[in-house]
Amino acid sequence: MHKHDVIILGAGLSGLSTAMHSGGDYLLVERDERVGGLTRTEDIDGFLFNHTGHWLHLRNDDVKQLVADLLPDGMLTVDRKARIYTHGVFTGYPFQANLAGLPAPVLRACVQNAVEAAVRRAAKPRSRPKSFLEYVRHHFGDGIADYFIVPYNTKLWGVSPGEVTADWTQRFVPVPDVAGIVDGALGTADRAMGYNATFLYPAAGGIESLPRAMESRLDPGRIRLKTQPSAINVSEKWVEIEGERTSYDHLVSTLPLPELVALTRDAPGTIRRAAGRLRCSPLRYVNVGLSIERPLDGSHWIYLPEARFPFYRVGSASNAVPSLAPPGRSSLYVELANDQQAPQEDVVRAIAAFLKEIGSIRDESELLFAAFREHPYGYVIYDKPCARARRTILDFFDGNQVQSIGRYGAWTYNSMEDAILDGMVAARRIRGL
Ligand SMILES: Cc1cc2nc3c(=O)[nH]c(=O)nc-3n(C[C@H](O)[C@H](O)[C@H](O)COP(=O)(O)OP(=O)(O)OC[C@H]3O[C@@H](n4cnc5c(N)ncnc54)[C@H](O)[C@@H]3O)c2cc1C
Repeated sequence: MHKHDVIILGAGLSGLSTAMHSGGDYLLVERDERVGGLTRTEDIDGFLFNHTGHWLHLRNDDVKQLVADLLPDGMLTVDRKARIYTHGVFTGYPFQANLAGLPAPVLRACVQNAVEAAVRRAAKPRSRPKSFLEYVRHHFGDGIADYFIVPYNTKLWGVSPGEVTADWTQRFVPVPDVAGIVDGALGTADRAMGYNATFLYPAAGGIESLPRAMESRLDPGRIRLKTQPSAINVSEKWVEIEGERTSYDHLVSTLPLPELVALTRDAPGTIRRAAGRLRCSPLRYVNVGLSIERPLDGSHWIYLPEARFPFYRVGSASNAVPSLAPPGRSSLYVELANDQQAPQEDVVRAIAAFLKEIGSIRDESELLFAAFREHPYGYVIYDKPCARARRTILDFFDGNQVQSIGRYGAWTYNSMEDAILDGMVAARRIRGL
C-alpha cells in the first residue's frame, strides 16, 4: 500500500490552505482539471465570470497578510453598491435600515410593525426565536419580514424561513435598532451597514488568481488533478484512489459531507441516516454578456424579493471591476430562484424585461449571450434535523481523526476567508500545535 502522512481531498480554498500550511508529506486530490473549486473563474469570449459574486471580505490579520503575499500585483478595494428593487423602486441595502423611497403604505407597515416588535421584545426580553422566520418577525416586525426578508430568502433557499433555524444569522443579517430603522425610513441611515460594506478583489485575472497563487506555492508532484477517491476506511486509515489503497496518518476532507459519508465504507448506519437528513439548495445562475456599459445604474448587485422575477439577485461584476468585461461591454450574473423553475427561454425573457424596466437596456439585442450554470451545492439549509445530523457526523469523523472542513465539508455557510482559516486550523492540528 502507498502511504502519505496527510491526504487532503478537494483543492478549493480550504484544501489548498491545508496543503500550504501543513507542508511535509501530503497528497492533494482534486476531481476537476483545475484547482479552486467555487473560486474558479470562467472566461466566455473575454468576459470573466465567477460562480456569482465572490468578493473578498477579510477580517483576520493572518488571512489579510497571506492574501497580500499571494497577490503582490494588487487588490482593488471596492465600496459596496447594493440595492433592493421592489414595488417599482430602488432602496438601499440592507432593506431593514433603508426603507426610504418605498410606497407610503409599505413604508408605514414596515415602520409601525418594527416599533410593535420592539415593544414586544421589551416586554419579553428573553424569548428565543425557534426559526429564522420567528427571528425576523421578532427583530424587524411583520412588514420588513413580509416585504423583503421572507420572500427573498424563500427564493434563495427554495424553502420557507419557517423551516430554517436562526443559528447562522448573526454575522450575515444586520440588525438595526428601532432608531436605525426609523433613520432608514427617513433616508438618514448609515448605508455602510453589514459584513460586506467594502470588499477586495484581485486587480487582474478574476478571483481564480487567488487559488492559482496558492497552488503556485505547492509542490506540483503532490497535487493529483482529475482524480477522486472511490472508497475510504477511517478505522483502517486508507483512501482508495484509482483502484489503489493509500494509507494516511491524517485525512482532511473538503468534499461535501454527504459525499464523504457515502465514500466511507465503515460509516455506521446512524451516520448514513444522519447524512440523509442534510439538505442544500443548488446554485443555479446565468452568466450574461451585455453590449452596453454600466448596467443596473452602476450597482454591484440588486436584490429582488418579488415572485414575478424568477431570480433573487442580479449582480454585475464588471460594474465593480471593469476589467472583468471587454471594453465597452459589461457582465451580469443572475442568481435563479429555487422556489420556482422557469424554462430557460422564459428566464432570458424575464432578464431582458427586468433590464428594460429599470432602464439598463433598450432592446433584447443588447444581451449578447446567456450561459446557464448549475452546481449541486449552493446554500446549506439550516433546519432542525440538519443541526443535529451535522454534529453527529462531524463528531464521528473527528473521533476517527478525520477533519471534514470547508463550506460543504463542515456543512456550513461560510466565506472564502473562513475556508482559508479552516485550512490553517486543520494544518495546525496535524502538526500538533
Ligand atoms: C453563490 C456563492 C457565492 C459566494 N460568494 C462569496 C463571496 O462573495 N465572498 C466570499 O468570501 N465567499 C463567497 N462564497 C463562499 C466561498 O465560495 C466558499 O467559502 C469557499 O470557496 C469554499 O471553499 P471550499 O474549499 O471549502 O469548497 P469548494 O470550493 O467547494 O472546494 C471543494 C473542492 O473539492 C472538490 N471535490 C468535490 N468532490 C470531490 C471528490 N469526490 N473528489 C475530489 N475532489 C472533489 C471540488 O471540485 C472542489 O475543488 C460564495 C459561495 C457561494 C455558493
